[in-house]
Amino acid sequence: MTPKTLSGRIFLACAAIIAALLLLVSLLGERRLRAFHEGEVKQRLRTAATLFSDAAVTLLSERASTPALERALELARAEGLRLTVLTSAGEVLADSDAPPPLAGHSGRPELVAAARDGEGTATRKSATTGISTFYLARRLDAAGAPIGFVRVGAGLESTMESIADLRDALLLSGMAALLLGLAAAAVVARWLGKPLQEIQRTASQIAAGGLTQRIRVSGPTEARGLASCLNDLAEQMRRWIETLERRKRETEAIHASMNEGVIAVDPRERILLMNDAAARQLGLKQPLPAGAELWQEVRFPDLERALRAALTTGASWRGDAPRPGRDERVLALSVTRVDPGIGAVALLSDVTELRRLDKVRVDFVANVSHEMRTPLTAVLGALETLALPDQGAADQERFLDIARRNALRMQAIVADLLELSRIEVEGDRMPMVPLSLDEPVRSALRALSMTAEAKGIELSLHVPPGVSLRVNGNEKRLEQVFTNLIDNAIKYTPAGGRIDVHLARDETTVSASVADTGMGMPASALPRIFERFYRVDKSRSREAGGTGLGLAIVKHCVKAHGGEVRVESTEGEGSTFTVSLAALECPENAPAAP
Ligand code: ADP
Repeated sequence: MTPKTLSGRIFLACAAIIAALLLLVSLLGERRLRAFHEGEVKQRLRTAATLFSDAAVTLLSERASTPALERALELARAEGLRLTVLTSAGEVLADSDAPPPLAGHSGRPELVAAARDGEGTATRKSATTGISTFYLARRLDAAGAPIGFVRVGAGLESTMESIADLRDALLLSGMAALLLGLAAAAVVARWLGKPLQEIQRTASQIAAGGLTQRIRVSGPTEARGLASCLNDLAEQMRRWIETLERRKRETEAIHASMNEGVIAVDPRERILLMNDAAARQLGLKQPLPAGAELWQEVRFPDLERALRAALTTGASWRGDAPRPGRDERVLALSVTRVDPGIGAVALLSDVTELRRLDKVRVDFVANVSHEMRTPLTAVLGALETLALPDQGAADQERFLDIARRNALRMQAIVADLLELSRIEVEGDRMPMVPLSLDEPVRSALRALSMTAEAKGIELSLHVPPGVSLRVNGNEKRLEQVFTNLIDNAIKYTPAGGRIDVHLARDETTVSASVADTGMGMPASALPRIFERFYRVDKSRSREAGGTGLGLAIVKHCVKAHGGEVRVESTEGEGSTFTVSLAALECPENAPAAP
């Protein structure tokens, strides 16, 4: 099985190459060595054959041993050679290793070859000596005719031994080379494989989201280059992701902080985006997630129609639509298609208050006209009557009085309207200073004490001792607030009644309440009495010289102070108006009120 790792493959390839080289070297080496040795032996034998030829020819011709032959045989023995002299028929006449007679040698391959070519060689185990031997035979001729052969043989043991020695040495050094090679291959494989493993390990961590991980490797330049590229890539990715996440957070924060609802849908009317405001406006607990089917969660036919029209025809739509549900709130919708093929987006804003204010403005103009028309008609009527001839002095006086009273009334209305408008314009920018709330209350009481007394009404102020009543306020406006409240209390309380003004303080607020024992108001009127020109009893208010704007002025002043005004009333028993403002100091370290 082929190994899967790079180092495994490198190791295996090196091992295979080294083993193949070793095999080749031993095979070729042995063959070359054997050829070299055989060449050497052959040359030696050829020299010996030449040397022994004369003695052999003499033996063959004379068929008798000569001293020269004996010397030759001895010399051969001394040289470790086997010398044989044979007739052409293969009969052995002399042999250095075994005395004749020997078995006929005809048919020996070296002899056959020598008879044919003049010289022949063969290698085989000698039948006589039993030793592996190399033979060289030469044909001997006399007078142009073959007379026999001289054959020299040399044992091959020493050659074989030296070849075996060489093979052993080759094998040994081969094994050592193999081991060294394998060790080197292992080192190289590790040198290459380790940085790659490290790159792979860190790259997996980066891919799994660890974008701050960096690859640190030593090893080949290529691996370090690759690591540096991957590090750059990770850094780029980290920056991109950071930028994208920051943009996403910014966009989400912008959407979340918007008062307008935003709904984006894809061409199949599934949610792409919905912000908190849109969820609130549609009465959902939380925005629908991307991919949600809008109409499965919300029933809003006007929005549905507008979105569908935008998606199918590209037509934009703007208009008011009653919010789904029964709370009678009005949403302004603006629906537009988002090209190319992204979907459509709807902006929703709650315009209930705006529409109510529009209505209030229209009603206000109608109310002012209505309020002014009555005294104006009275003034005109009185003036026209005065213009008639034959008027008695008493009548003239009466009509003049009517004209004056109604003109004063119009003046009072105009003055209150101007005041109201000034307070509205000042709004949050009304100049304020720290003051004790009892100061404006005392001023108002001082201004009205005579009126109360004249009507036989008892007026009392109750200030808790040792308590700070300090608030941030505009003294003139606060005095106006309490003047209006105490004036109303006097107006709507019959003679013999009483009015109590209480100042109080709790953890966070300072409050002043004006309680009377007057006629009170029906519960149904209470939510409306702070509206401009609203009166519970029109003729009584007019008789009392009221403009119907006093409580509206109170409400706006208190609102500009960031406070609140409440009313409790029981018809026939009396009313209590309470103004609460944020206290300036903690009760415990507050200085005592003067
Ligand atoms: P007006 O000039 O008519 O007094 P206000 O705005 O001051 O106008 O008051 C609105 C109406 O609230 C009055 O017409 C009256 O009917 C009712 N109202 C105000 N204060 C009292 C009170 N202390 N007791 C009974 N009714 C009151």
